[in-house]
Amino acid sequence: MQGFYYVESQGQTYECRLRGILKKTDRKDNCIVGDIVEFSEDCSITKVFERKNIIHRPLVANIDYIVIQFSAMDPRLDYERINILILNSYYHRIKPVIIINKIDLVEESEIEEIKNNLDYLKALDIDLFFVSTAENIGIEEVKSYIQGHVTAFGGPSGVGKSSILNLLQEGTTLKVGETSRKLKRGKHTTRATTLLPLKEEGFVIDTPGFSSVDLPEISNVQELIDLFPEFDLDEPCKFSNCIHVNEPGCAVKNAVEGGSISKERYEFFLRCYEKLKIERWNKL
Ligand code: GDP
Ligand code: ZN
Repeated sequence: MQGFYYVESQGQTYECRLRGILKKTDRKDNCIVGDIVEFSEDCSITKVFERKNIIHRPLVANIDYIVIQFSAMDPRLDYERINILILNSYYHRIKPVIIINKIDLVEESEIEEIKNNLDYLKALDIDLFFVSTAENIGIEEVKSYIQGHVTAFGGPSGVGKSSILNLLQEGTTLKVGETSRKLKRGKHTTRATTLLPLKEEGFVIDTPGFSSVDLPEISNVQELIDLFPEFDLDEPCKFSNCIHVNEPGCAVKNAVEGGSISKERYEFFLRCYEKLKIERWNKL
C-alpha cells in the first residue's frame, strides 16, 4: 500500500512509511487505521501488533466501544434491530453500548417503558444512555464515558448519529496529515479521515456498515450460543451438547422459566436459530 501512515506516540504524530516486508504482502489490510504498531527512528513501521477486533466499513481496528444508537421516536425504536446489532457487536468482539436519542420527543413515562423493555441489558453488562442532541441532554455523560477510547457509532439512519458526532468531535473533520491528538494507549496509527478526534481525548468513528438488519455470518449453533453471554450458566444442562432449543433438562430454558434469563432474549435466540438453520446451516 502506498503513502504515509500517521502514527501517534506520546502526543506526537509521526509521518511513517511501511517497511518493505510489510508492504510486500499483497493484502490491503496489512496496516490499517487503529492498528497498534512499532516503528523505527527513520519512521518506518516495522511491526503491526495483533488486533483485538476489526470492522470493515470503514476499515478500522482495535475499537473499544460500539455505540448502537437509536431514537425514542422518529424513527421509533426497533427492539429486534437492537438485538441484532448487539449480536453483531459480540460477533466482532466489540463492547456494545446503547444510546437512545431524541428523548425530547417523548414523555417521561415512555422513557420508563423503554427502560423496562431493555432491562435485560443489565444482565449483559451493557450500558444504556438516554440523550437528546437537540436539547443537549445526557451528552456530557456520553462524553466522559467514551473519553480516552476509540468508539464507533452505528445504528439506523435518521436517529441522530451525525448530530451526536458533531457534538462530540473536535470542530472540524479530521484530514489526512492533521492528526495531532494523543491516545494514551501508546502507539497508534491513522491513515485517513476515518478517526475523528474527540474534544477531550480519544476518537469516534462513523460506521455506516454497522446498521445492518442481517444476522452476522455465524457458522454453527455453538457459535450462536456463544454470542448470548447470559446463557453461560454455572448450572449445566442435562446434556453436555445441549443447544437450548428442545432438549429436556435444559438449564437455559429453566432460567428463562425462572425469570433470570429474559424471555425476549431467549425468543430472539430461537428466531436466530431458526433463521440461520434455514438460510445458512442447511445449505452448508
Ligand atoms: P443520522 O442519519 O443518524 O446521522 O441522523 P441525523 O443526525 O442526520 O439526524 C436526523 C434528523 O433527526 C435530523 O433532522 C435532526 O435534526 C434530527 N435530530 C437529531 N437529534 C435529535 C434530537 O435529539 N431531537 C430531535 N427532536 N431531533 C433530532
Ligand atoms: Zn440447554
